[in-house]
Amino acid sequence: MKLPPLSAKLLPWYEKNKRPLPWRDTRDPYRIWVSEIMLQQTQVKTVIPYYHRWLDAFPDIKTLAKAPLSKVLKLWEGLGYYRRAKNLHETAKLIVKNYAGRFPSEPEAIYSLSGIGKYTGGAILSIAFGKQAPILDGNVARILSRIFALNDPVDTPKGLKKLWELAALLLPEKNPGDFNQSMMELGATLCLPQEPACLICPVSGFCQARQTGTEQDYPRKSGKTKIKKVRAACAVVRHGDRLLITQRPDNGLWAHLWEFPTFRITDKEDGGDFLKKQLQTAGLKAKSIAHKTSLKRTYTDHSENLEVYACELTSETSATPSSADSPFSGQWVKLHELKRFAFSSAHAKIIREYL
Ligand code: SF4
Repeated sequence: MKLPPLSAKLLPWYEKNKRPLPWRDTRDPYRIWVSEIMLQQTQVKTVIPYYHRWLDAFPDIKTLAKAPLSKVLKLWEGLGYYRRAKNLHETAKLIVKNYAGRFPSEPEAIYSLSGIGKYTGGAILSIAFGKQAPILDGNVARILSRIFALNDPVDTPKGLKKLWELAALLLPEKNPGDFNQSMMELGATLCLPQEPACLICPVSGFCQARQTGTEQDYPRKSGKTKIKKVRAACAVVRHGDRLLITQRPDNGLWAHLWEFPTFRITDKEDGGDFLKKQLQTAGLKAKSIAHKTSLKRTYTDHSENLEVYACELTSETSATPSSADSPFSGQWVKLHELKRFAFSSAHAKIIREYL
């Protein structure tokens, strides 16, 4: 396949049109790493204030490595996908231990770090170290699918393999970092999923989808990814002026974060009745349980309807979930003390909007 000289068109366009984002002024691998991790699954405008706050608190790898996990999670609060913060913290410790706190520059070393996959590794290698490392995210996959009118679905191993190969073959010898960033920028600003701005696109002359008027038909998807729907019930338990919060286990989703007691429920269960039983098992007697709101949480493979209930305990209840059979262990805190704890986005929203 003869490859079009994309970089000759893209690099001058990028130089002239790139948005002035804070992580674009640096070649510091630590800062690029932090920005790339924050930008996964999260919009640029949301990330910017988090990025500044993070660097104010942890200006370098050593400071991050020394920080307690609770502080790291608190700074990440509201950004979602907390495993990212935990990985940054763990990896910073590892870099201090194995590389004296200096970010490694060799591909094998970078790709072996926890939480750094092919995409993030490629971004760090190319942008910070000027190495020939490709990147492929949703934006780049969409652009390449359209330019080459690729019929292999992008969510299949075959489609992905082809895209990675193309991303590598198209990299120029000079400025691979700028080329990668120009692809991300094109995908974020012109080659949008809906209504791509082909009229002002610098590579429209090479774009097969554009030439056949089929931009909207790409990227192809296999349609095999089914989103499962699940339910959860959450109890905001009050006893006088205190609220019951629990901490998630060390592993899994939202590890270490705090939340109001939350349980997965089946389609048939009534959330209020279920919570009442759970509280009883913990030795807590509910005076009232009322449904307040429902929040939707979306993940890669499932979406969750989180039903939030306000629970008031009877005055004679001893406010400690102490029974040996208790389905949770908790801590009672006053409303103003909640800000000391890191909560997942949904629970932070409950505090912000319903308490
Ligand atoms: S011409 Fe249109 S579809 Fe093709 S890369 Fe440019 S914006 Fe995307």
